[in-house]
Amino acid sequence: MNVNQSAPPVPPFGQPQPVYPGYHQSSYGGQPGPAAPHIPYGAYNGPVPGYQQTPPQGVSRAPPSSGPPPASTAQAACGQAAYAQLGQGDVQNGPSSTVQLQRLPGSQAFGSPLAPVVSQPAVLQPYGPPPTSAQVTAQLAGMQISGAAAPAPPPSGLGYGPPTSLASASGSFPNSGLYGSYPQGQAPPLSQTQGHPGVQPPQRSALPLASSFTPPASGGPRMPSMTGPLLPGQGFGGPPVSQPNHVSSPPPQALPPGTQMTGAPGPPPPMHSPQQPGYQLQQNGSFGPAQGPQPSYGSPYPGVPTFGSQPGPPQPLPPKRLDPDAIPSPIQVIEDDRNNRGSEPFVTGVRGQVPPLVTTNFLVKDQGNASPRYIRCTSYNIPCTSDMAKQAQVPLAAVIKPLARLPPEEASPYVVDHGESGPLRCNRCKAYMCPFMQFVEGGRRFQCCFCSCVNDVPPQYFQHLDHTGKRVDAYDRPELSLGSYEFLATVDYCKNNKFPSPPAFIFMIDVSYNAIRTGLVRLLCEELKSLLDFLPREGGAEESAVRVGFVTYNKVLHFYNVKSSLAQPQMMVVSDVADVFVPLLDGFLVNVNESRAVITSLLDQIPEMFADTRETETVFAPVIQAGMEALKAAECAGKLFLFHTSLPIAEAPGKLKNRDDRKLINTDKEKTLFQPQTGAYQTLAKECVAQGCCVDLFLFPNQYVDVATLSVVPQLTGGSVYKYACFQAENDQERFLSDLRRDVQKVVGFDAVMRVRTSTGIRAVDFFGAFYMSNTTDVELAGLDGDKTVTVEFKHDDRLNEDSGALLQCALLYTSCAGQRRLRIHNLALNCCTQLADLYRNCETDTLINYMAKFAYRGVLNSPVKTVRDSLITQCAQILACYRKNCASPSSAGQLILPECMKLLPVYLNCVLKSDVLQPGAEVTTDDRAYVRQLVTSMDVAETNVFFYPRLLPLTKSPIESTTEPPAVRASEERLSSGDIYLLENGLNLFLWVGASVQQGVVQSLFSVASFSQITSGLSVLPVLDNPLSKKVRGLIDSLRAQRSRYMKLIVVKQEDKLEMLFKHFLVEDKSLSGGASYVDFLCHMHKEIRQLLS
Ligand SMILES: [Zn+2]
Repeated sequence: MNVNQSAPPVPPFGQPQPVYPGYHQSSYGGQPGPAAPHIPYGAYNGPVPGYQQTPPQGVSRAPPSSGPPPASTAQAACGQAAYAQLGQGDVQNGPSSTVQLQRLPGSQAFGSPLAPVVSQPAVLQPYGPPPTSAQVTAQLAGMQISGAAAPAPPPSGLGYGPPTSLASASGSFPNSGLYGSYPQGQAPPLSQTQGHPGVQPPQRSALPLASSFTPPASGGPRMPSMTGPLLPGQGFGGPPVSQPNHVSSPPPQALPPGTQMTGAPGPPPPMHSPQQPGYQLQQNGSFGPAQGPQPSYGSPYPGVPTFGSQPGPPQPLPPKRLDPDAIPSPIQVIEDDRNNRGSEPFVTGVRGQVPPLVTTNFLVKDQGNASPRYIRCTSYNIPCTSDMAKQAQVPLAAVIKPLARLPPEEASPYVVDHGESGPLRCNRCKAYMCPFMQFVEGGRRFQCCFCSCVNDVPPQYFQHLDHTGKRVDAYDRPELSLGSYEFLATVDYCKNNKFPSPPAFIFMIDVSYNAIRTGLVRLLCEELKSLLDFLPREGGAEESAVRVGFVTYNKVLHFYNVKSSLAQPQMMVVSDVADVFVPLLDGFLVNVNESRAVITSLLDQIPEMFADTRETETVFAPVIQAGMEALKAAECAGKLFLFHTSLPIAEAPGKLKNRDDRKLINTDKEKTLFQPQTGAYQTLAKECVAQGCCVDLFLFPNQYVDVATLSVVPQLTGGSVYKYACFQAENDQERFLSDLRRDVQKVVGFDAVMRVRTSTGIRAVDFFGAFYMSNTTDVELAGLDGDKTVTVEFKHDDRLNEDSGALLQCALLYTSCAGQRRLRIHNLALNCCTQLADLYRNCETDTLINYMAKFAYRGVLNSPVKTVRDSLITQCAQILACYRKNCASPSSAGQLILPECMKLLPVYLNCVLKSDVLQPGAEVTTDDRAYVRQLVTSMDVAETNVFFYPRLLPLTKSPIESTTEPPAVRASEERLSSGDIYLLENGLNLFLWVGASVQQGVVQSLFSVASFSQITSGLSVLPVLDNPLSKKVRGLIDSLRAQRSRYMKLIVVKQEDKLEMLFKHFLVEDKSLSGGASYVDFLCHMHKEIRQLLS
């Protein structure tokens, strides 16, 4: 098979790209590119045939019932195209003209519209000999936020697998006590004395808390261990000081705005582009009440009680509350970034640029580095030495989404065909040709930018150099001018030196009693009849190359012959589940169009055949085994879609027992809840990976099913897990079908191997995500879709050079859904620094949190959860203490000074610490935790951002005619006004909270009922009403769903209603019922930790 002829649907440069007019199809690889009106990756790009919006004809897809269904409190999932963000980018742009203060090194300028004060050059302590390590690395023994779960009554249904029935949910919300003890706003029990105004030195990012932040240490007790059993009478830890009336009005004294510049200007970075588009600031440093004078806060640790779980000596004077408006606000940071960076495209031509935040809507122009949609880093400026890196404790990691879907305005990577010789690579390190390779000797050789090896340029690739040493055809070749592109792979890159066959999808449907009873089987079979028309296609292909097969199972397996020549499908039963075999080859995997009649007949018959089943037991491992064997027999890669309902207790390999035990929580054995109960699934997963068999698992449990074990194979094969607790077709079909449609249509790369190469001095050492590794460098993915990320951590193995910077090259070898073997290459150049300040100035906190969460979530497999939480806190304190010591200007030790780019690190880290995996509430099930744990493993930065810090949008504050998304408010109960309505979403859950004193007109417009009391709590569908408010709210809900990779089911929550407990779980700035600290308290605690490290 000749590569050049192999794939008609993939023209080398299918899409004109204005920036590179030179890319014509003829220029590359001589592919005829037949007509190909489509871009190479149809489905990576634009909307998949619009299917999700409009149900295909002839399907009985019931519209969402508009009546209030028995309120399932479910959670999540969502629609499709993730780029339909509302126009936050349109907000008025840029700071005022006086703002551009100074440009700092690191390829970005910091300035702040709110801090024109910054005239005073900041002090920078040059990086010198490492400080006495004792100072920075002092152990924070015994410190730990949180502690035993609070004795909260178990509101059921919280979290990820809430019961579907409202009755059961509400029944278990013993409301009163909780509300009673949890007054509005949750004032930290302690108060503070009036603050010392203390004029702030104008440094950027000096937290206004600063000078007045004198810890009680002078007299106050050091906080005792943060964990430990709760003592009797101890609420959420800490002495029960009741002082609900916290002061939230700013104290009289005013400080200069909190945004000041720190860090020295320093020399401009080597590759700094003079005309940086639109970013005056990385993250605006204004905390809280932006424009106004900064209030000062008084003092001591208000939050002590949150952490303490031992009584400790009584606190001194109850201090007043720290003003939450004055501590760094995620909302403000997000808004500022949108305003400052949302209007200009992000051009990737400059090394080490920090991209706009994930919450900012921006376009990317590839000019030599991979788009941040493909790669985001914790820092874009890497310390030159490992000593520096160790000192800072900032993890050096990249979150890579190799097949990320792009917004329609951005071109998919071009496909380059180097013909039979294959892609050009360095002979020594095997890096692929990229824009950073240096051509020498008049173009006859090139020096590898990764390993410095000098290679010959093959004659057919030779080109002259211009006077700058650049090849004259550099801009005609994607691999010489772009950050991301693809190569057609030759047969050398294929398994067994044979070009692959197109992949196959096998649908494997549980037909046991539970699956039938809930309506799942009928719903699914009906849906598949039409969904099969939307299997992933490549480019302009008329039909999908993907073949399909069908299996049903309970305790035994049923294979179906759906060969097109048959009048009726034939069933073959495999009852020997101990050693499954595939009973038929011919007729099992078929082309949908050819076998349509037989398939339709089968899908009609399956629900009937098993309608009266009494079989409740299921097998699980043999099902996967059978699917994998079928792919093996067909010699192709593919995907299994498993629809499964129960713990597999039938006698068979992989049989499981119910080992759920909540008593293990907060013990050393808690980790076993996250570990698989048998090694059989790892072994099975390994075989699947070898075959390129990816497994997507849809779970419909109504009790414990051991997600930790069942998700092993999906996790190791690059698959996805979906969970619909207490599924009932009539209530949950919209969510399930949305997820299913999206999942089936997703473009997937099969049988993939990913390798990350780096320039000399750093090395990829650790990997997180859904994949398998059989050695230390190759990430093996049976399947990889456009939503999944692989997070890679780097470590030094030598000194880096400031001039040459550091390079990453991610190469993903995969089989496309049409069966074409390809290599996708992403390149990224980072700066290197000898000043710690440069590191801190070029960090990305959202990525850092993504990494830290994944690291912690993996940690719970092996360590007690408490240890994991402790080490997160310690690391965060070390990061911030190092900054304080080396980069901030001298100031009172009582000041908390945060790096501008990391000022949200405490609030976000606190959200990770109190997440269900690390600190579960009483209502979170073991399966929920295992489920979330594995979900987070593959999340991208935008997903972890909103997952840990949910978005809370007030709906009636902005004018009704406004078409932009309303500005979010901070996730805290005190931000809620009872006269308003709010949407809250975190990528998995979606709530509509209705305040008790919302105007009647609003209630009428949205719910079509006369008063607040008539609104059905737990409602999941808003009535379709013809008025502006109703349209606007429903439109916003649709738009939020469209931004997320899973369908988010709506839950309407009324203020003071029992269901409100569910909702409050997501108000992450507040103290949580499970004992998680409030933001204010955590910040105080973090300050104390830092001071301890510094002293
Ligand atoms: Zn090399």
